[in-house]
Amino acid sequence: MTPAEIKALVRTVPDFPAPGILFRDITTLIAHGPGLSATLDHLADAARDRGAEAIAGLEARGFIFGAMVAARLGLGFVPLRKPGKLPVDVIGVDYALEYGTARLELDPTLIDQGERVVVVDDLIATGGTALAGADLLRRAGATVDHALFVIDLPELGGGEALRAAGVELWALMAFE
Ligand code: AMP
Repeated sequence: MTPAEIKALVRTVPDFPAPGILFRDITTLIAHGPGLSATLDHLADAARDRGAEAIAGLEARGFIFGAMVAARLGLGFVPLRKPGKLPVDVIGVDYALEYGTARLELDPTLIDQGERVVVVDDLIATGGTALAGADLLRRAGATVDHALFVIDLPELGGGEALRAAGVELWALMAFE
């Protein structure tokens, strides 16, 4: 399937979770077998082309795509988790969201020093979440040069924010 065919499987829900937001819902895409498989083909090619040695996914939708990409490539998967979920000592980062703040946590012992870790999430908007993840991974000793997304919302500037931090964006599709 082409990216345009895959894009047609994403459901757009207006005014969720707040008025004025067009929520790009990937559940219709992942419920479609050929669409899910084609999405993973594209993501796995992009990760392989970028020399991924491990894949990190952002909770929760980044776990779906990231873990499957890692499995396709025979690589390990590292979860970037919401607070209080990991049973060991963690490093954490607080970051700003459009409404309020959030926190991500990582078990740094999962990272080999200098390991080339590629970040995967379903969607990039402002880039705040992906940047927080890249920051944590770097603090743990990873080399983080690339982040992959199913969906980019380019008007929200996430790609530029990532680039300014030395992280190149790749996305399967964009919604203008
Ligand atoms: P950001 O940190 O601004 O790049 O926001 C990215 C995170 O918020 C991703 O993990 C997305 O799952 C979620 N998100 C932000 N905007 C939308 C949207 N319009 N539709 C669906 N998910 C969104």
